[in-house]
Formats: sequence, structure tokens, C-alpha cells
Amino acid sequence: MIIGLLKEQGNETRVALLPEIVKKLTALKVEVLVESDAGKSAFVANEDYQNAGATIVARAEVFKQANLLLQIQPPLQEDVEQIKSEQVWVSAFNPLWNTNLVQTFLTKGLTTFSLDSIPRITRAQSMDILSSMSTVSGYQAVLDAAIKLPQFFPMFMTAAGTIRPATVLILGAGVAGLQAIATAKRLGAQVLAFDVRSAVKEQVMSLGAKFVEVEGAIEDKDAGGYAVEQTEEFKNKQKQAIHDSAVKSNVIICTAQIPGKRAPLLITKETVEAMLPGSVIIDLAASTGGNCEMTKDNQIVVHNGVQVVGESNYPVQMPIDASKMFGQNVLNFLKLIISEEGNLNLNFEDEIVKGTCITHKGEIYNQRVQSVIEKNN
Ligand code: NAD
Repeated sequence: MIIGLLKEQGNETRVALLPEIVKKLTALKVEVLVESDAGKSAFVANEDYQNAGATIVARAEVFKQANLLLQIQPPLQEDVEQIKSEQVWVSAFNPLWNTNLVQTFLTKGLTTFSLDSIPRITRAQSMDILSSMSTVSGYQAVLDAAIKLPQFFPMFMTAAGTIRPATVLILGAGVAGLQAIATAKRLGAQVLAFDVRSAVKEQVMSLGAKFVEVEGAIEDKDAGGYAVEQTEEFKNKQKQAIHDSAVKSNVIICTAQIPGKRAPLLITKETVEAMLPGSVIIDLAASTGGNCEMTKDNQIVVHNGVQVVGESNYPVQMPIDASKMFGQNVLNFLKLIISEEGNLNLNFEDEIVKGTCITHKGEIYNQRVQSVIEKNN
């Protein structure tokens, strides 16, 4: 089979495969076509791909010849028009949120896989792009906050007096939140964290952070390790607990998300107004509505001296390592759909293949996506 690696559009800097992964794919008897300059923004030259065994071609040729089309971002409308029903589209297109795109794929009878839908089971951990990209985001968010904060993170005892350490509040202690805790601790801050899943309390504490307790959260074992929507009573208790911690914090890193739903609103305008001037809020949930009422996606809003940074795409600021991790995840996934002879082999009996497949021959394969689309119709 032929895998076609496309150059990302817009402000994406990562690339779905680095040459080191292309080399591993060619060893699996797969041919790889790379769109010219696909790796440029991740500091990879065409020659590096050629040396790894790939052929460099123009974009139109990738669409024409490849059996499997691969990129990170969702396809643009003009790309969707070029995909043929016998080809396979693989990228991360957030199908629980971008339901119009799913409808288009469905109508066109396309075979599509969304890498952000890989089931959260142990066997799939090495393919989980959400985890690897959240690791990058959690780390970068804290570094960005440290640069924007007009104060130190660590405590200093100097001849010029004592500087108290910054207090960092992390909302949501999933993959990004735990990485944010670890990074903020390494920089010497005092860290508090809050999550609705009680299972994370121990992890938070083992990283040296304090866990903000709010009793009465709903948890669902069948939600695949994810959080679920909470009751109004819990939401009010939670708002108060977060308010009390927020007003004492210098930095808040927001990471709380619920798949397929608007991100939970955890920080109100009143809370922002009660925070210390100069404080920084980094909202990683900005693209799904944000955890803070003042968040604007892709913008920095300054309200009463508090900077609210609506940034959900930190991985584009670290294209080399983010591409490295993304590509390794992709390779581990592709191994499931490449036969020993190097041919495309879609085995829908495999729960990872089935769960990651969004549309195939006019049907929706991923169950969560199917129920969201059914609800919308
Ligand atoms: P996520 O990005 O969907 O959410 C981030 C965090 O926000 C989660 O910890 C969630 O509980 C929390 N959250 C949601 N609503 C909240 C609210 N109202 N208040 C406070 N916090 C709230 O989740 P994620 O980080 O991608 O992953 C969640 C969990 O899934 C992980 O911690 C892990 O246990 C599991 N996981 C499993 C695998 C695997 O087995 N393959 C891979 C990755 C993650």
C-alpha cells in the first residue's frame, strides 16, 4: 500500500510522520509519498524524508496515488472533495465536536479514522495522541504562564529580601493537568489541583500538590476514564471551592474537558475580578468553550489586571518533539491496519480499529460519535 503524508495547512507546525517513522514504515513493505515541504515547519527537509525511503511529490499526486491519506488536522473542504471512496483518510478531526464534517464523510461514503478517538484501553496506550499531545500542552502551558506572570515561581531568600513562591491552581488532573502539576512543581511553585474523578487524588498528591476536595461528584466507570456531566448542586459547591482557591492563586491552568460536550465552566467573571492583579489564567479548554467565563479562543483577554490566555494548541509551539510523539502513536496504530505483505487490512473485529473508524461505506463505526449524531438529528 501507499501512505501519503500531507503538508499541514494554516498555522499547524507539526507533521504526522518524521523521517525516523517513515523508515520504520518502509521496513513494513509500505511505500510512503511525502508532499513537498511537509516537514518544513518541524525543521525536517525533503532530503531527510528521501533518505528515509520516501518519495517527495506535489500535493495533487499524494491525493491521486495514496491508498491512505495522513495528516494531523481535519481536512479542508477542498481536500474533502478530492478524497475518493476507495481511499482511507486518517487525521485527528474531533468527530464528537465536528459533527458536520462527519455528516459530509458519511454522505460521500468515505472511510475515515480519527486518531483522537482511539479507545482508552491499555493496549491502545502507545497509540493515544490525546495523551501525548496533552503532555506537551500541560508542560507548555506552565512555561507560558511562568513567562507571563510578573512574579517568580520559586521561593527566593536573598539579600534583597524573601520572595514567596507562586501558587498555581490546576483545574482537571488528567494527562495535561498532571504534567502541568509536575512542571509547576519543578519550577518551585506551590500547587493545588482539582478534579471530579476521585481516582486522581492519589496521583495529584504523589506529585506533591494539594488536592482540593469537593464531595458528591458523579463518576461513571463506563465513560472510558473520562469525566461526565455533574449535577447542579455539585456544580455550585465546586464553583465556591474553586473561587476560594482561585483568589489565593497567581496562576490557574485550566484543563477540564468532557468529550463531545462544552468544557465545564469553572471560573466565573466574579472569580476573575476577585483574583490578584497580575495573575495569569491559561485555558487549555478554550477551543471547546473554555473553563473560564472570560476566555476567548486564540486570544489573550486582560480583565482587571488578570491575563486570560485562550490557547488550546500548545503542541504547535513544540513541533519537533510533538511530531516525534505523534508519529510514534500513528505508527503503532498503522501497524494494526497493515498486513504482513504491506497491504491495507481493515479488521473491524479489532476494537481499536472499530473504535477509531468514524465512517466507512456510509455507516458510523464509533459508537460515541453515532449516539451524538443520532441526538443531533
Ligand atoms: P480530558 O482531557 O477529557 O479531561 C481532563 C481532566 O478534566 C480529566 O481528568 C477530567 O476528569 C477533568 N474534568 C472534567 N470535568 C471536570 C470538572 N467539572 N471539574 C474538574 N475537573 C474536570 O481527559 P484526559 O486527561 O485525556 O484523560 C482522562 C483519563 O483517562 C486519564 O487520567 C486516564 O486515567 C485515562 N486515560 C487512559 C488511557 C488509556 O488507557 N489508553 C489513555 C489516556 C488517558
